[in-house]
Amino acid sequence: MVMALLATLRAMPELPEVETIRQGLEHHLAGRRILEVELRRDDLRFPFPGDFDRMLRGRLVERVDRRAKYLLIRLEGRLTWLCHLGMTGRWTLLGDDLESRPGRLANGALVGSGEGPHDWVVIHLGNGSRAVYSDHRRFGMMDCFPTDQQDSHKLLAGLGPEPTPNHLTPIGLADGLRGRRTPIKSALLDQRTVAGLGNIYVCEILHRSGISPRRSAASVAGRSSVTGRVERITGAAHDVITEAIDAGGSTLQDFRGVGGDDAMGYFSHNFLVYGREDEPCLAEGCTGTIRRIVQSNRSTFFCPVCQR
Ligand SMILES: [Zn+2]
Repeated sequence: MVMALLATLRAMPELPEVETIRQGLEHHLAGRRILEVELRRDDLRFPFPGDFDRMLRGRLVERVDRRAKYLLIRLEGRLTWLCHLGMTGRWTLLGDDLESRPGRLANGALVGSGEGPHDWVVIHLGNGSRAVYSDHRRFGMMDCFPTDQQDSHKLLAGLGPEPTPNHLTPIGLADGLRGRRTPIKSALLDQRTVAGLGNIYVCEILHRSGISPRRSAASVAGRSSVTGRVERITGAAHDVITEAIDAGGSTLQDFRGVGGDDAMGYFSHNFLVYGREDEPCLAEGCTGTIRRIVQSNRSTFFCPVCQR
C-alpha cells in the first residue's frame, strides 16, 4: 500500500531530499581527490561544459553546499561543480566501506552500478571508491564555474531566499508577495519568491498555515506591516522543511541511494494533504475532506474547511 502510494506520487526530488543527498555526498566526497571522470554522453538536459572532465580531474573535493535544489560541490582552486538532479537524477556511491547500492528501475534496468544503461557520469576517487550519476529521463544537469561567479550564474542569480529560519523572514516574504494577483500557491512555487519549494511542500505549508491555495498573494501580504497570514506561512515553511530534512537525515543511515527514483522515497509519513484527495482532513478538530484542484498545471491538495 505504501509502496503503491510512493510509486504514483513520485515526482522530482524536492529541497529536503536534495539536502539529504547533499549530506550524503559531503560525507563521502569531502577530502577526497577526483582521479578520473568518465562521461558517457555529451549532455544531460544541457550539454556538459566543453572541458568538464578536465576541469574536475585531479582536484580535491572541499565540501558540498546547496542552493535551492542545486548541489554545489566545492573543489580546490575555487571551482564549483554544480549538479541538479532534475526528475530522476541519482547518485550512487560505490566502495568497500559504503552501503549505497545500485537499484533497479520499474523496467528492470540497473542503475548506479557504473555499468548500467543510464549511468552517465562515473567519478573515480582517490580512495578507490566511485560516485556514479544516473538519470534515466535526463532532466538533470551539471556545470562547472569559478566559485566567485556564483552570484551572476544564470541559474542561481534570481533565486529568492531559502525557506529556512536563517533566510526566510516574514518581512522578506511579505515583500515578495505584495501586490501580486497570482494565487498564493503559484507565488510560493515561484523560485524568485522562495527558492527550492516544490509542489508537495507548498501544499503542506499552506495546509499547516490554514490558508487557501486560491487566495491571492496580494491578499495574504496585505498592504503594509506583516500580516498574521504571512507569519503563519513563514513559520510553517520553516517547520515543514526542517522536519522533512530531519526525517531525511534519519533515513540516510542505511544510505539507500543518495538520489532519485526507485531508491529514494519521499518522507510521505509527514504529508497531511498531498496525495490524500477525498480522505478526511487531519487538522485537529477539522471535519473537512481533502480536495484536489489544478493550478498552473500542477495538482493542489487542500482542505476547503480549514484553509481559508
Ligand atoms: Zn481541514
